[in-house]
Amino acid sequence: MNKPLPSCEALLDDAVRRIASDTPRLDAELLLSHVSGLNRSSFRAFPERELDAAQVTEFEGLVAQRVQGMPIAYLLGHQEFWSLPLKVSSNTLIPRPDTECLVEQALELPLPDNARVLDLGTGTGAIALALASEKPTWLVTACDLQEGAITLAKANAWELELAVNVFQSSWFTGLPTDSFDLIVSNPPYIASGDHHLGEGDVRFEPASALVAGADGLDDIRQIVAEAPAWLNSDGWLLLEHGFDQAKAVRAVFSEHGFTSVETRKDYGDNDRMTLGQWAQQGAADAER
Ligand code: GLN
Repeated sequence: MNKPLPSCEALLDDAVRRIASDTPRLDAELLLSHVSGLNRSSFRAFPERELDAAQVTEFEGLVAQRVQGMPIAYLLGHQEFWSLPLKVSSNTLIPRPDTECLVEQALELPLPDNARVLDLGTGTGAIALALASEKPTWLVTACDLQEGAITLAKANAWELELAVNVFQSSWFTGLPTDSFDLIVSNPPYIASGDHHLGEGDVRFEPASALVAGADGLDDIRQIVAEAPAWLNSDGWLLLEHGFDQAKAVRAVFSEHGFTSVETRKDYGDNDRMTLGQWAQQGAADAER
């Protein structure tokens, strides 16, 4: 005779005991909802409900991965960003709420209605898609070096029916000739020896999206140095960075002739992004 199937309540209780995250019940309910197609409140209303054997097996497989620390977003295959449901995979960083501050900041800049905008290292496409969703008249381009990110960003643009041009490019090198009114990026900015790399979700995220040399600033330095060649006069560069990198990043912007250089905070009140304007006249004056 077949073994009786466990109830939702029994499945959840067992998973909650094993998952060592800060939110074991939420994690377990999200995974059970994912495999069953039932919403989370139904587990409380009908705790005795049984799933079929295939669903139980799938749930157990996901719980086992969550127990090892695999991020919930990778297990579910999606993550919300700027109210947009995005597909995610282990080829890209999981979009963070703090990066929504970067989007807010970009939307506040004095840009033309037909602004040409570039998102460098787009990953899932999060920043580019959020901007395209808010500003349908902007011409938004996104690029990434990783093949897996390109596939994902294109799939997200298609699903959300948002017009974003996606290119494979190592920073600026593979871009079709163009010049932009805004270049925005959430580049890798963690120092290679940072102990945070051994904790939480980042353990499972691609190092290529996180780590940037001994002080975490290698990619930021390169982007700031090369951006002027791709910016229209009076165009803006807006970069996310680590909470303790603001002063160093402002110095890099100023060194390369950017003006109106300022740092802005994230939702946690940390210095999280720096912006500057490429005023060609001002830069030429500075060189005299
Ligand atoms: N903000 C991310 C973190 O600290 C890092 C993202 C990045 O390097 N771009 O987990």
